[in-house]
Amino acid sequence: MRFDTVIIGGGLAGLVAGISLQQAGRSTAIVSTGQNALHFFSGSFESMEEVPERLATLFAGAGVRLHYNPGVRLMPLGTFREATLSLEDVSLLPEPGFADKALILSVPGYLDFFTAFLAEGLEKQGIQCRVSTFDLPESARKGLAEMRSVQLARVLDRNWESVVRQVRLLLRDEDAVILPQVFGLQDPAVPERIRQEIPARVVFVGTMPPSVPGIRTQLLLKRRYEVLGGTYLGGDEALEARVEDGVVRSVRTHNLDAHALEASHFILATGGFFSKGLRSNPFRVWEPVFGVDVECAEDRNAWYNDEFYGDQPYMQYGVRTDAALHALSDGRPLENLYAVGSVLGGTRPEFGSGAGLAVRSAFAAVDQILECL
Ligand SMILES: Cc1cc2nc3c(=O)[nH]c(=O)nc-3n(C[C@H](O)[C@H](O)[C@H](O)COP(=O)(O)OP(=O)(O)OC[C@H]3O[C@@H](n4cnc5c(N)ncnc54)[C@H](O)[C@@H]3O)c2cc1C
Repeated sequence: MRFDTVIIGGGLAGLVAGISLQQAGRSTAIVSTGQNALHFFSGSFESMEEVPERLATLFAGAGVRLHYNPGVRLMPLGTFREATLSLEDVSLLPEPGFADKALILSVPGYLDFFTAFLAEGLEKQGIQCRVSTFDLPESARKGLAEMRSVQLARVLDRNWESVVRQVRLLLRDEDAVILPQVFGLQDPAVPERIRQEIPARVVFVGTMPPSVPGIRTQLLLKRRYEVLGGTYLGGDEALEARVEDGVVRSVRTHNLDAHALEASHFILATGGFFSKGLRSNPFRVWEPVFGVDVECAEDRNAWYNDEFYGDQPYMQYGVRTDAALHALSDGRPLENLYAVGSVLGGTRPEFGSGAGLAVRSAFAAVDQILECL
């Protein structure tokens, strides 16, 4: 199978690259083993304080709504963090003391939303809190295999009006209602509808993973990529590459067996240690598909900071590239292989970190591929 570009990894970086190239008329394939960082996403994009026009257009085309208001967001353990560019259902607040009284609500038996921590954090800001629950319709509760965020969201997307009715009955004189982020998995409009129907400020707060807004974003981006004609090879793993004279010729995958993926360009978007884009053992750190160079301290004792909560040096490790993001092999650039996203670790601080790194580096690789005829 031959494509203009083969992308290894279908997380944020791989999907942004794939959608951009398809929009520009290039034929692409994305091969991705499965779970990625979006499944754990907080809903806020690190190192992106404002919406770059290009990202806003790409996301709008996929139906992913973004917003940014200067201020703070309420975190799952009741702390506050500065606001950054976020998915629309993430509530960005003007200041930590954003209300006088708050009603914090969860579902009976749901353990992945920490109402007591939230109450403690809000009370530190002078917000008086009351904790209560809203229930699911009996038929929906019976059908739940597991009480996890995604299962709840599947049910609540169909039953959000029942939640609104219950919240209205529970509400006394509170000016804010805190709800878990378990709405809008299939239908991104649900959180906004809930906000409009409740006569108080509604604040959606993240739950333990999986992340409902993150999974929705991944599904929408993947759908957009496929609508644009991209070939998404989900559940497959790139195993090894054929490289000749500094040029990648093809990649072999687990499912396609003898049918290697050939292309003029390749993008390595396999993520960091978390997604197995980087691997390690007690002696070395390596990139498993192309075997390209990895920035890493030689002395293993320098990989870790003994202080558990301190910055950990290994989190900065990543694939070495030249200025144009070509991955280096034995110090020499592979001219048609670009490394993007968190597989770069902290080797390219000019692209930022987190989602900012994923998006900016993906666009940078795309621009260079589009310059080649
Ligand atoms: C748990 C977690 C939570 C995070 N939360 C946030 C957040 O809230 N905000 C933020 O800004 N940043 C967050 N980050 C940083 C995050 O890394 C970036 O935001 C971004 O989503 C990374 O995207 P990526 O595409 O580079 O990598 P990933 O999302 O890791 O995607 C890489 C993909 O490549 C696939 N893959 C790996 N090896 C192969 C192979 N050999 N063959 C085929 N496929 C392969 C993986 O299965 C995965 O699907 C988080 C990171 C982690 C680990």
